[in-house]
Amino acid sequence: MKKVLLREDEMPKSWYNVLPDLPQPLDPPLDPETKKPVKPEQLELIFAKECVEQEMSDKRFIEIPEELRKVYSLWRPTPLVRATNLEEAIGTKAKIFYKNESVSPPGSHKPNTAVAQAYYCKKEGVKKLVTETGAGQWGSALSFAGAQFGMEVKVYMVKVSYEQKPYRKFLMESWGGKCYPSPTDMTQIGKKIRDEFPNTTGSLGIAISEAVEDAATHSDTKYAIGSVANHVLMHQTIVGLEVEAQLKKIGVKPTIMIGCVGGGSNFGGFMLPFFPKKLEGEKIRFIAAEPKACPTFTKGRFRYDYGDTGKVTPLFKMYTLGSSFVPPAIHAGGLRYHGDSPILSLLIKLGLLEAQAYHQREVFEAGVLFARTEGILPAPETNHAIKAVIEEAKKASEDDVIVFNFSGHGHFDLAAYDAYFRGSLEDYEYPEEEIEKAMQSLPEI
Ligand SMILES: *Cc1c(COP(=O)(O)O)cnc(C)c1O
Repeated sequence: MKKVLLREDEMPKSWYNVLPDLPQPLDPPLDPETKKPVKPEQLELIFAKECVEQEMSDKRFIEIPEELRKVYSLWRPTPLVRATNLEEAIGTKAKIFYKNESVSPPGSHKPNTAVAQAYYCKKEGVKKLVTETGAGQWGSALSFAGAQFGMEVKVYMVKVSYEQKPYRKFLMESWGGKCYPSPTDMTQIGKKIRDEFPNTTGSLGIAISEAVEDAATHSDTKYAIGSVANHVLMHQTIVGLEVEAQLKKIGVKPTIMIGCVGGGSNFGGFMLPFFPKKLEGEKIRFIAAEPKACPTFTKGRFRYDYGDTGKVTPLFKMYTLGSSFVPPAIHAGGLRYHGDSPILSLLIKLGLLEAQAYHQREVFEAGVLFARTEGILPAPETNHAIKAVIEEAKKASEDDVIVFNFSGHGHFDLAAYDAYFRGSLEDYEYPEEEIEKAMQSLPEI
């Protein structure tokens, strides 16, 4: 059988919240000024109240509202597919499956949380959603979500991407989102940076600071976050819960689960529902794949750090390369964040999660093999997961079942494939000295 499908009425009715099942509690996020734990009221200034509650909830399952399940049903349940052609090409003894999250309208897993955040904001009377975006995946997912709930969406897009990668901007506009090159003159922080550095090309850190300021200074506006936060990973568990139901249908148990990690939302949502099984003693390995150019899990440190370069967000205990980290211009834009989800960071620290880092050329080679065997052209981020799958499949036995999350397609990343085919993609390993240096500037806690 090639595809394992669920009927619409088999779609999970709750998300899974891992917090009560963690072997030890997470260290709390801290106020960047007082260094004391942040209060829910502070977070409610910028996030939907319901999302703040979910962020700290001790309930194991949280119901997905029916109105939201209706929106999910535009593309969910998504298929679980046996990658038989890829298995053959590698010559592996193991079975390989992938969960295809590229079938959503924006082409990735990101709308799973975008529509949830838009729904709760709408319910709380919010009129406008704001966010930042780098290459544009998150901005387009939120614009799609805004259209579903009739809300205004405003996206601060890093100026250099706005100019160089216009296609996702067109996608945002098609769904009614408004996209501005950041820094803008619409926020205090944006104006200040433009005065000081008139030729700046912007950065994700600046764009986050602008979006957060916008939300904090307008009562009808909230900020939506694309990854890292606990509630974002929880919204994404619909992915792993579907996989669980699909594997059960065919009587198969996974032995290795793999995903790519930027902020950790697609991989967390995919593997966390299986985490209790590992605690109960089931033999199952979880492998996070990341770029050698942004090696947060494999070379970063487990410390309190800011979520952004502007130091306006709370401090999170997480693996980090330092909030002053300037990502090299690799093509997997979604994997260039300096930090990582606090939940996944704790699991790495406890040795319950493994991480592997790869160079971008070997990663594109893996993605091209996938496209030529299974047919779908993967996003550059997804290529990292595929590379890890191929490496594990070569070593695997016939008892192994490798399942990975196919986080998105690469139809808006064709310029990166062009660069790969022309031989102009370069490998880059982030130097250890730079990480050491960045660690010096982390806040003392
Ligand atoms: C944004 C993105 C990622 C990385 O984000 P996570 O929060 O780590 O999942 C991975 N794949 C695709 C296709 C993306 O758009």
